[in-house]
Amino acid sequence: VEIWNLVFTQFDRQSDGTLKDLPQRNIDTGMGLERTAAVLQGVSSNFEIDVFKTMREELRKLLGPQNAFETTHENAVMDHIRAIAFSIADGALPSNEGRGYVVRKLIRLAGDHLRKAGSSAGAGLHRLVPAVAETMGAAYPEIRDSQKNIQTLVEREERSYLEVLRTQTPRLRNELAGAGSNAGDAAAEIAFKYYDTFGLPYETIEGIAGTLGILLDRRRFDTLLDRQKQRSREKSKIAGEIFSKDHAALWVEGLPESEFLGYDCAEAEGTLLRILKNQKPAEVLKAGEEAVLIFDRTPFYAEAGGQVGDTGELSSRGFKAAVLDTQWMEKCIAHRVSAAEGEIRAGQRVRLCVNAARRDLIMKNHTATHLLHSALRKVLGEHVKQSGSLVAPDRLRFDFTHFKALDSETLARVEELVNEQIRKDLPLNKNVMSKEEAIREGAIAFFGEKYADAVRVVTIGEFSKELCGGTHLRSAGEIGLFKILSESSIQAGVRRIEAATGPRAAAMVEDFQKEWKKMARFFRADEETLPQELGRLEAKVSGLKNRLFGSLNRKVGRAMEQSFKKSSEVAGIKVVVGKMDRADVELLKGATDHLKSLHSPFAALLSSESDDKISFVVAASDELVRRGFHSGKIVKDIAALVQGNGGGRPDFAVGGGKMLAKKKEAIALGETEIRRNLESIGKSGRLSP
Ligand SMILES: [Zn+2]
Repeated sequence: VEIWNLVFTQFDRQSDGTLKDLPQRNIDTGMGLERTAAVLQGVSSNFEIDVFKTMREELRKLLGPQNAFETTHENAVMDHIRAIAFSIADGALPSNEGRGYVVRKLIRLAGDHLRKAGSSAGAGLHRLVPAVAETMGAAYPEIRDSQKNIQTLVEREERSYLEVLRTQTPRLRNELAGAGSNAGDAAAEIAFKYYDTFGLPYETIEGIAGTLGILLDRRRFDTLLDRQKQRSREKSKIAGEIFSKDHAALWVEGLPESEFLGYDCAEAEGTLLRILKNQKPAEVLKAGEEAVLIFDRTPFYAEAGGQVGDTGELSSRGFKAAVLDTQWMEKCIAHRVSAAEGEIRAGQRVRLCVNAARRDLIMKNHTATHLLHSALRKVLGEHVKQSGSLVAPDRLRFDFTHFKALDSETLARVEELVNEQIRKDLPLNKNVMSKEEAIREGAIAFFGEKYADAVRVVTIGEFSKELCGGTHLRSAGEIGLFKILSESSIQAGVRRIEAATGPRAAAMVEDFQKEWKKMARFFRADEETLPQELGRLEAKVSGLKNRLFGSLNRKVGRAMEQSFKKSSEVAGIKVVVGKMDRADVELLKGATDHLKSLHSPFAALLSSESDDKISFVVAASDELVRRGFHSGKIVKDIAALVQGNGGGRPDFAVGGGKMLAKKKEAIALGETEIRRNLESIGKSGRLSP
C-alpha cells in the first residue's frame, strides 16, 4: 500500500525540452486527508475509512445480499453521491449549464455505477443522501439542513434520466448498429448527437457501443464537442454589445476607480474623465449623439447584485443629456447617455442628477427583497438560498432554492411577515466591516460569491442581516406595502417569487377591488356573497354536465359495443381502435369503462381531435395487465410523436399533443405497438420485459 510518495518539483520543462529552474521548489507528498485517515485507522484504501462506513452499509442494504460486492462501482457511487450532496447544498442544481451540468453528469454517472454494482431498484441513489447527511452533517450542517431538498432533487433527476435511458437506449443501439463497427466517424457523430441532445454521458454511450463491438473514436467526438462550444461562444459574442466586458479593460485603461456617492445623495458634481463613442474614445460629445461617459465620482448606481442601473440627467454650461442606463466597466461606473443640447469635452465639470423618484421605487423593492429573503428562511427553513434576484422600479423578482411549490397559505404568511416588519418601521443600518466579522455576526452570505475583504452589511432591525452593496431606505416603513404577485418554478429545486411594493402594490389592491366589484355586478351578487354565488353556479353547471355526460355516455356505450363486435383479434384478444371527435378525456374514459364491462379481453386505443390538439387514451382489460401489458408506456410513445406528453396506469392511460400533422402516424404507431405486445403475450403467455 502506497501511503507516501515524495515528488520533488524543481524544473519547468519548456516546449523545446530544456529544463528551467522553478522560482520556488516544492516537495509534494500526496498525503491527503483521506489517505492520512486510512493510515491512522489501519485500513488499506481511502474508501474503507470511517467517513464511508455508514454510506457503504446503506449502499449494501440497497444492493441486497445477492450481489457480490462490486467494490469499484460501490466506491464510485459513494464518492459521487458525496460530491453531489455538497454541490447541491452549495446551490449548484442539476441543469444543462456550467456547474449545474457537472452535477447532472455526476448523478447520471453515479446511477450507472449503481446499476453496474447490481442495483435493480431503478432510482436508488437518492436513498443514500441521509447517510451522507448523517456522516458529514456534524461538520457541515448545511448538508443536514438541505437533506430533504437534496434527496428530492437527486430522485427527480434520477427518474428523468431513467426515462431518457428507457426511450433513447434502443434508438441509440439501432443507430450505432446501423453505422456498423468500422464506421468510426459516423459512430462518433451518433455518440455526440445523443450526448448533446439527450445528455447521455460519454461513458454510458461508450459502454453501449462496446456491447455492439464498436470502438468509439474519442478524438473525433472531442472535435465535435469543441466545434459546438465554439458555436455557442460566437452566439454570445453577438449578444454582448455596448458594455462588452471583452473590451472594458481597454476602454477604462488609466482611469481611477469611480467614487460612488449614491448611498447618501442623488445629486452631485463630477469631472468628466472619458467619452466613449461607438466603442472608441472620443474628444467631444454633441447634441443628438449617444455615448458612454465616465466621471471621477457619481451618485449613479451601476447595475449589480440584481439592482438595475440608475437613470437621470446630466447638465453643464449649456450641455444637457439623459442618462439611459448605468453599468460597471471594470472598476469604473459607466453612464450610457443621449445628449440633448450643447456639447461636452473630457475635463469639464458636470452636474449629475439621478432620477430620484425612480431610485426611490428601486430602494423600496431592494429593502423589501431583503425582508422577503429573511421571511422565507423563517417560514420555510434555513435551506432557502437566494439563487438570483432582480430589483427594478416596478417590481422585484427573487429566485431561491426550495423543493416544492408554496401553497397560498404559506405565501400569505410570508407576505404578512414582511408587512409586519414594514408596519414596525424597522430602522436600517449599513456598516462596512471585515468579511470575517460579518459572517461572525450571522450575515447571510453565499459560498459561490466572491467578496472583497471589507464588506458592506445591511441590517434591518433584528429581522435581516445581509451582505449587500445596493442602495436602501432609511427604515422599512418607507416601503408602504408589500404584495406578492406570483410564485412559480424556474427549474427543478428553484422557485421564483415576484412582488411589488409602495404605490404599485397599493394600485394592485385597488385594481383588484374594482375587478371584484365588476364581477359581483356580472353575476348579480353582492360583493360579500360573491363566493357563495359562484359556488352555487358551479354546482349547477356540474349538475348539467353530469346529465349531458350521462346521455352522451349511453350513446358511446352503444357505439363501443358495435365496434367491439367488429374489431379484429390478436391472439384471441380484441383490438379496439376508434375515433370520437370532440370527445373530452372523461368521455373517452367512459368509453373504455364500457369495454371493460363487457368482460372479455381487449386492448383499446381511442382518440379525439379538437381544433388545436389531439387527445387519446389506451386501455386494457385486467388479465392483460396481469400478463404485463402497460397502457402508460404506449401512450408515452404516441405522445412523443405529436410532441405532447402522457402517461398513466397499466390498465388506463391518457395523452395528448399539438402536432396534428403527425396524428395519423401516431395512431398507427400506437396500434402497431398494441398488436406487437399482444402477439408477444400470445406466444409466451406473458409480455417479455
Ligand atoms: Zn441586497
